[in-house]
Amino acid sequence: MIGLQISQKGKLEKINKMEMCEDANSSKVKITKVLLTPEDTRTLLGDDSATYPVIPGRIAIGQISDTSDFSYLEKGTRVYVNPITNCGECVQCLSSNSNLCTSLQTAGKNVNGFLRDFAVVKNSQLYFLPSLVKDSEAILIDYITLALATIDKLDITKGEHVAVIGGGLVGLITSMLIIYYQGVPILIDGKEENLDRARLAGIYYNLFSDNKVEKEVSELTGAHMAQKVIYVADSNINTDLALKLASYNAKVGFVGFSSPNLKVNFNVAMKKQLEFCCITNGYGYTEQAINLIANKVIDLSLFKFNVVKYDNVEDELFKDYEAFKDGEQSAFPLLVDMM
Ligand SMILES: [Zn+2]
Repeated sequence: MIGLQISQKGKLEKINKMEMCEDANSSKVKITKVLLTPEDTRTLLGDDSATYPVIPGRIAIGQISDTSDFSYLEKGTRVYVNPITNCGECVQCLSSNSNLCTSLQTAGKNVNGFLRDFAVVKNSQLYFLPSLVKDSEAILIDYITLALATIDKLDITKGEHVAVIGGGLVGLITSMLIIYYQGVPILIDGKEENLDRARLAGIYYNLFSDNKVEKEVSELTGAHMAQKVIYVADSNINTDLALKLASYNAKVGFVGFSSPNLKVNFNVAMKKQLEFCCITNGYGYTEQAINLIANKVIDLSLFKFNVVKYDNVEDELFKDYEAFKDGEQSAFPLLVDMM
C-alpha cells in the first residue's frame, strides 16, 4: 500500500507498507476516490482528538480487489467505505448496542483514513453502491447520514420551523432533507455565496446573519420562533443566535464532524428551558442514505468539487494548511482521483 500520512502536527510523509487481507471478516479495497474535507486540514494543523501518525481522508469509495469466500460482496464490487466503526469492546458493543458505542473510531482521525491506493477494511464497513448512485453522489453519503441523524435526534416533524445556522455543506444538505421530511428550514449564513447556493437548492427561507435576523425569524414564525434549531459547529456564527432564534422549550442541536471549543450562554437556555443535543456522526444511517440517493429525493448535482490527482494532493493539502493557519477558511472539500 502506498499513501500519505500525517506523522505529527504539520508533517506529511509518504508511506509504503505491505497490507494483506488476512481474516475472513475483512476485504481489500482499491480506493478510487477520496474526499478531503476541512477535518483533514484540522488534523494536519494539530487536533487533540486525532491519534498520530494517521492517514487522512475520511470519505472514500472504492472497488473490492480481494475478499474471502465468506464475504457477501464479491471482488470487483463498487463500494462506499463507512468511515465510522464501533470499538467492539465497550459495554454497549458487548451488549449488542453498537449504535451507542462509547468510543466510535473515525477514519482519518483516530484510525487510518483512505488517502492510499489500497485499504484492508472490515466487511461490515463496506456498502454496495447501486449503479443509480454516481461516484459524485456517493462521496456525500457521510454528510447525508449526519443530516439524517440530526433530523432523527431532534425529532423534526411535518410543518415545524427549523432554524439552521450555517449554510455550508452540512447545513445545506440538512436543510434539503428537512424539506423532504416536510419540515420548514430557515437557513442562516454570513456568506452570500452560501445563500445563493441555498436558493438554487430550493431553500425558500434563507437569511443573512446580521442584526435583523432575529426579527425576520420572528416574522416568519408568527412570533413563535423556531421549535427546532440546528447550529452547525463550524459556521463561525455566535452561538447566542441559536438560543435567540429558539422558541420556549425548543430543541437545539449542535452538529458537526468536529467539536470546536464553543461557548454557550446558559442564562438564555435556562430561561427558555431549552433542550440541547449534540450530533457528530451519522453512524447507523448509511443504508438509508444510499437508498435516498438512489431514489433521487434530493438534487446533489449542485455540489461540484475541485478534482485533483493523487500525485498533486500533497501540495494541495499544504496550501490549505497554510491558509488555515493564517486564519482563512479551508478551501476544501477537494475530490482526489486515486486512479
Ligand atoms: Zn464500543
